[in-house]
Amino acid sequence: SWSSSDSVISTDSSGDAADPGSPYRVVLLGASGVGKTAFASIFAGAADSMDSDDCELCGDEVCEKEIEVDGEPVTITLLDTWDAEPDNEWAQERYMQTGDAYLLLYSITDRTSFLRASELRISLRRFHPAHHTPIILVGNKCDLVRRREVSVSEGRACAAVFDCKFIETSAAMQHNVWQAFHGIVRQLRLRRDSKEA
Ligand code: GDP
Repeated sequence: SWSSSDSVISTDSSGDAADPGSPYRVVLLGASGVGKTAFASIFAGAADSMDSDDCELCGDEVCEKEIEVDGEPVTITLLDTWDAEPDNEWAQERYMQTGDAYLLLYSITDRTSFLRASELRISLRRFHPAHHTPIILVGNKCDLVRRREVSVSEGRACAAVFDCKFIETSAAMQHNVWQAFHGIVRQLRLRRDSKEA
């Protein structure tokens, strides 16, 4: 439920100093099979078995949860998209429009998914022409070293061209996944702070 507070990660007793404010909408984008569902289940807490009630409003496509980043709570609404219908313009556009920030995933074992990430980045720019929408390019499945098709330097270079951050992750090993979520929150806060200034 919306009002339940026991699912909220507790902070120290100083109370309202760290108001999480309204949720940020973070959207997972990327080709089918790159690991979006795996990311979402780590976020939801299913994979690290803290508490299955940890996530409020969890469904197949959306999960809202309060986490703590740099000692400050923040509420994230995570939207898991599907890329099974790349020709379904309407569904694509809906996701492209609704996010405050984007994790743009590809698999390092699948060059086609890397190219798809570039296409999605270009579409995002159309919907968010201003340059301050936080986007992280995420090269997932970095545990599969022998099946690698996209090098780290290619990933990094692509992120530089597209003016976004870059990280390699392994959802299977739970490596760097939270770093990606925390990174997107830090970027959202930087943007918020520069707006308030
Ligand atoms: P989605 O279609 O983008 O939601 O992709 P899924 O999360 O369903 O992942 C597709 C497949 O890749 C599943 O079999 C996952 O178990 C597997 N997978 C996801 N992330 C990783 C990873 O980091 N490493 C490995 N080895 N497999 C992964």
